[in-house]
Amino acid sequence: MPTLEEAKRKVAELVVEKGFGNTPSEIPNKLLFAFIELGEAGDSWKKGKPTEETVEELIDVIFYVLDASRLIAPSADLDDVFEKKLAKNMTRPHRYGEGFRDKAVPASPP
Ligand SMILES: [Mg+2]
Repeated sequence: MPTLEEAKRKVAELVVEKGFGNTPSEIPNKLLFAFIELGEAGDSWKKGKPTEETVEELIDVIFYVLDASRLIAPSADLDDVFEKKLAKNMTRPHRYGEGFRDKAVPASPP
């Protein structure tokens, strides 16, 4: 299983091999394509397509995110950034979901 850094390098190889846009001017397009692929994943899920297809669309999202990231910050170590961001998020209090609802103020008084 590749690390994020290894996956980023593989995506860069794919971009060069296939002649896709490979300059910072392509960053907005790559971010847009990530959203489009996310929409394709949502559509696949909504339509009850095989989960393999939905997961493949999610991988397309990751491809574009990795591709955009290397053009935005070529020297960023995504594995390091991931670990730091995960640790940061783990320190955050519950704000969403059931953990938040349990602490939520009751509905307005009668
Ligand atoms: Mg796709």
